[in-house]
Amino acid sequence: MTPDPISRPISPPRVRFAPSPTGQLHVGNARTALFNWLLARGSGGTFVLRIEDTDAERSTPESERAIVEDLRWLGLDWDEGADKGGDRGPYRQSERTHIYRAHAVELLSREQAYRCFCPAEQLELDRYAALREGRPPKYVGRCRDLPPGEARARAEGGEPAVIRFRVPETRDIVFHDLVRGEVRFSTDVIGDPVLVRSDGSPAYNYAVVIDDALMAITHVIRGEDHISNTPRQLLLYEAFGWPPPAFAHVSLVLGPDHAVLSKRHGATSVAEFRARGVLPEALANYLALLGWSPGDDQELLPIDELARRFRLEDVGRSAGVFDLEKLAWANRHYLKAAAPERLTRLAVPFLQREGWIAEPGAPVTAFLAGVIPVAAASVDRLEQVPARLRFLFDYSAARAIEDAGVRAEAQAARGVISALAAELAGSPPMIDRETFRAVVARVRERTGQKGKLLLHPIRLALTGEPEGLELDVGVPAIERGAALGDAAGLRRIPGAAERAAAFDRELGRVSA
Ligand code: GLU
Repeated sequence: MTPDPISRPISPPRVRFAPSPTGQLHVGNARTALFNWLLARGSGGTFVLRIEDTDAERSTPESERAIVEDLRWLGLDWDEGADKGGDRGPYRQSERTHIYRAHAVELLSREQAYRCFCPAEQLELDRYAALREGRPPKYVGRCRDLPPGEARARAEGGEPAVIRFRVPETRDIVFHDLVRGEVRFSTDVIGDPVLVRSDGSPAYNYAVVIDDALMAITHVIRGEDHISNTPRQLLLYEAFGWPPPAFAHVSLVLGPDHAVLSKRHGATSVAEFRARGVLPEALANYLALLGWSPGDDQELLPIDELARRFRLEDVGRSAGVFDLEKLAWANRHYLKAAAPERLTRLAVPFLQREGWIAEPGAPVTAFLAGVIPVAAASVDRLEQVPARLRFLFDYSAARAIEDAGVRAEAQAARGVISALAAELAGSPPMIDRETFRAVVARVRERTGQKGKLLLHPIRLALTGEPEGLELDVGVPAIERGAALGDAAGLRRIPGAAERAAAFDRELGRVSA
């Protein structure tokens, strides 16, 4: 059997993302969703979100909600889905049991499926025996030839039964995968798969075929881990007389050690990257580049432009190694491009977590909008913004001087620091770069110091840190923050004069 996907009307495409709501959205699955979305949006197609919740024990509504939220956060939208409806629903497998049952009855009546009464313990023993004898551990076919009438009577009498598909013997199944090329399997290794379990719930390989067919899916784009399921699914299409969709199995996302990306590599879920302050457009753009390239050496492009350029045929076969440094590079690009108000809104929770601000009112928000974008321009992720702004919200002269290096340098430059404190006492705040530079010039006159020997002690005294934002920006920020006083929602920020005086005093104390 060689289904030819090209001969079927596959344009405009109907694609689907079919997550099992059993946990967080893994970045590998997010990339699968994205590739489906890119194909649909780039070609006037339809994107369907189907929830595969047949595993009642592991599926939860919370996980479904979280997956939907993460997909939306990434910028993906769908045309039909569990939360949205559509002409080919329901879109949650747990609501489709009647459909699976009806189709199983059809296969039973054509003897393409049969009831199997083998107890689980028996199947386990069969498996061990096969493994011991070096045979593929597939179902031995004990119930294959039970007379259908007798089997029905047993099932109706209450004996637990599964429904198995009758796999045709000794056949080659060949299909053309849009990513992997020709794929060939022999049915010899495929045991008759369970379609419907004894509790009436459908197995994945069965439900997925019924759903993809009835939802008129034209392209199944999914992870490579499903490639060995595809022959079983193709046999089911054949049994129903349905044309199969085109298949595109994309490589899995790997960690740096080339093992499938998992918890032991660190963050794996979309939610974790979001919590660390990766912007959605950065993550989506980066994921699109894992196994595909928009060409022209241009990699950072808005998602709509990626969709315009996307072609399944250009998706590579080799595995995508998740590269945190490249994600950071993409994120830095988008952090620099983001509107200041948006960056501020996104960074505020990270500052709140430090206890530096509460719910900021309008003056505090305006103040933050002046400093957060500057801080965000030099970080990989928003979670690093607090470290860049510690000088502002968490200044302590005493703590700064506890550091031996800072203390030694400040003691050696005591003249500059005392002159700074004297210069600032009673003078107006340095609200901009010019006033700050004027003060620096006067301290230079008083002390005769210049360059690093002048500026570095000033940095230590005013920020408490040996490095950080440019002083031209940082010092006016300190003064503006201090001018807010105890404005609603802000921890009090000491001004430059207060800082220089405190630093000088602390130096005197430790030197005494
Ligand atoms: N629910 C399956 C999964 O999450 C979907 C597989 C498929 O796309 O066919 O792996």
